[in-house]
Amino acid sequence: MQNVVIIGSGCAGLTAAIYAARANLNPLVIDGYEPGGQLTLTTMVENFPGFPDGILGPELIENMRKQAQRFGAEFRAGAVSEVDFSRRPFTISAGKESYETKTVIIAAGATARMLGLDSERKLVGNGVSTCATCDGYFFRGKEIAVVGGGDSAMEEATFLTKFASRVNLIHRRKNFRASKIMLDRAHKNEKIHFVAPAVVEEVLDVSKGSVEGIRIREVETGKVQTLPVHGVFIAIGHEPNTKVFHGKLEMDANGYLIAVNGSRTNVPGVFVAGDVQDHKYRQAITAAGSGCMAAIDAEKFLEEHTD
Ligand code: NAP
Repeated sequence: MQNVVIIGSGCAGLTAAIYAARANLNPLVIDGYEPGGQLTLTTMVENFPGFPDGILGPELIENMRKQAQRFGAEFRAGAVSEVDFSRRPFTISAGKESYETKTVIIAAGATARMLGLDSERKLVGNGVSTCATCDGYFFRGKEIAVVGGGDSAMEEATFLTKFASRVNLIHRRKNFRASKIMLDRAHKNEKIHFVAPAVVEEVLDVSKGSVEGIRIREVETGKVQTLPVHGVFIAIGHEPNTKVFHGKLEMDANGYLIAVNGSRTNVPGVFVAGDVQDHKYRQAITAAGSGCMAAIDAEKFLEEHTD
């Protein structure tokens, strides 16, 4: 019987593990499909407090993992395939293993949608980014591209004009999903150039290990051209990793888990942290903060429910 099982090993899950371990709860962390979460897909992280010279995303995650292990957190590889939250203790299945636990912290994260190009995947962290707040600063005075037609794309494109010399906004359709106000703001910004409808065919140049341009195809004319950009921000939405919780926990229309009163869900004893419940801030530091909250809430719950 576990005191607390933490689902997910990104920033939120690892911070929850550090706090739960230091509260002598011997947490068990189930790594998930993408051990370490989205930080493992970045290079330099310059906005995590405490690192004046920045720190590599994978290194930050490795440090957090070691810190949790130092206080007794245990880790299991694999992803959760089924949960039973209908009665306590809860049951969690991950592959062939099954665990009984008094509390659960869900920190399963969200996955940024990608275009699906091989070159895009190979250049993630080397010019291809899914986070303008994290990486915009690296593109001061450079020409870049933002892909997407929703509010995220408008927001990121507008934000990136603070740094970039020119932002090409590439969207696959003539019509935009973004709200009128955000679309208008982007249209009015002289640094943003709309390229639509157009699709990205290739991110160049994998052989150099950095982004040197993108090849796009205009949908209506079929014309193919290369834009000389040094960064590509993919802003086509995120998918919260909540499939396994459908029908078991309350979630919003987009599938994000709903946290109330701190990190509580509608099932007493089940707590949430990080991007699985946050489509707004999505930062390493906010995920870490909410992981801390979830661990404190779980600890308090265990104190109050000694049965
Ligand atoms: P979204 O509204 O789902 O928009 C995703 C965009 O990416 C769409 O334009 C879509 O094109 C495009 N797209 C999806 N898959 C693609 C692919 N494979 N290739 C090329 N383009 C692709 O996602 P979001 O912009 O992240 O917004 C999510 C939610 O958060 C929305 O409710 C939004 O209003 C909200 N949000 C609000 C704010 C704000 O108010 N400040 C900021 C950000 C997000 P199609 O249109 O052709 O499908």
